[in-house]
Amino acid sequence: MKSGKIKPFFHFGGALLVTLAATAMAQAQAGPLPSADLQKIYDRLLKQIDRIPIYDNHSHATFPDDSDMDAMASPPEESTVLRLRDTNPEFVAAAKALFGYPYDDFKPEHAKWLIERKKAAEAAGGTAYWDSILDKMNIETCLANRVALAPYLDPQRFHWVFFVDSFLFPFDNHNQIAKNGDMGVYIPIQEKVLRRYMKQESVEALPADLAGYEAFIRRTLADNQKKGGVAMKFEAAYFRTLFFRDPAREKAEAIYAQFRAGGVPSEDDYRTFQDYVFRVLLDQAGKLNLPVHFHSAVGVGDYFSLRNGNPLNLENVLRDPRYSKVNFVLIHGGYPYTLDMIWLTAAKNVYTDSSLMGYYVYPSELKNILKQWISLFPEKIMFASDAFPFNDAVGAEETFWLAVRSARTAVAAALAELVAEGAFTEEKALELARLYLHDNAAKLYGEKK
Ligand SMILES: [Zn+2]
Repeated sequence: MKSGKIKPFFHFGGALLVTLAATAMAQAQAGPLPSADLQKIYDRLLKQIDRIPIYDNHSHATFPDDSDMDAMASPPEESTVLRLRDTNPEFVAAAKALFGYPYDDFKPEHAKWLIERKKAAEAAGGTAYWDSILDKMNIETCLANRVALAPYLDPQRFHWVFFVDSFLFPFDNHNQIAKNGDMGVYIPIQEKVLRRYMKQESVEALPADLAGYEAFIRRTLADNQKKGGVAMKFEAAYFRTLFFRDPAREKAEAIYAQFRAGGVPSEDDYRTFQDYVFRVLLDQAGKLNLPVHFHSAVGVGDYFSLRNGNPLNLENVLRDPRYSKVNFVLIHGGYPYTLDMIWLTAAKNVYTDSSLMGYYVYPSELKNILKQWISLFPEKIMFASDAFPFNDAVGAEETFWLAVRSARTAVAAALAELVAEGAFTEEKALELARLYLHDNAAKLYGEKK
């Protein structure tokens, strides 16, 4: 575009001013195709983005034999996405990058090298091992979603996100367990977590009435916060729909009175009770200023319902003025409903993260999702790894690595495209990268930098 053809809005005179106006206009108008220097912009941005310390919004940092790692277990028949199968050579690359793994596959006689190394780190005790894993990937702070925080996780670096679904299952759960193989695995774990909370609060049996049960819930949440909990997490999408109705307290009170000491509630009664208790949990989260995490995406298992897990189910709750003080964090980006998800974050107290999908899809696809998110509400999106051990060899260490490498390269590519398309400058791109990788989460959890 020649500057001579541009008419300045104001006639100041002078060739220099006309040229400046033309340059400014060229920058202000984004185009649909990237300029030819896209690769160079990407290389420059990635170099800077690698230096940004990460705040990881969701992980299960753990040794593989620690049953506190999650309130979930994968049913044996689950179908695994291509990238997460044992055959993915990226896991070998991860083990090489992190530990100098000397083999090119995970044949049992080779994987032994890695397993022994990790077992030795676990036996050594102390917090240095997991701190060093974070250091290798330039992760500064990491939320650990676990039943309890582990002694081998440094509380300065790993902050606890505790589970609350167990409060939804205080009654005889035979009908719940019998629904399908997944529920047969999940519900006994919920019962165990509830008993653990009762023990923690010195509650011997379920309280005599609903008021007592509500007090027990509120006390548990407050105590978990005192123990270092920075957020609470619902995995409810694995068990039921994320659409929660708003029943009257009297209904829940009557159901509690009827089934507290025994008897199997009907499906509808159980759901009504859960819908009410859910709202007690949110109310207490608001009072304690505890952000509320939701699994909102696809899930593992053979019977996971996409419809139940769709984050749009939560819209009535996210937009309810009674919970305007509650910060909601819809983790896993609502994948595959990522565009719906970013519009849910238009509400001022709603956030999302890129966990799970960051290793379900390859970086090119993650780039497309992040490009859309960044273009809409860049202050509401966070990096998260969902680091998780797949077996004794491929551990949370390798999935941390895969998620971090995928996210750093994907966000660099998304931003490089936007810069090359004329949307904004490289300087602005780095500012947006910092929001996603660190600053949005640091601000949400009150760690101003
Ligand atoms: Zn997770």
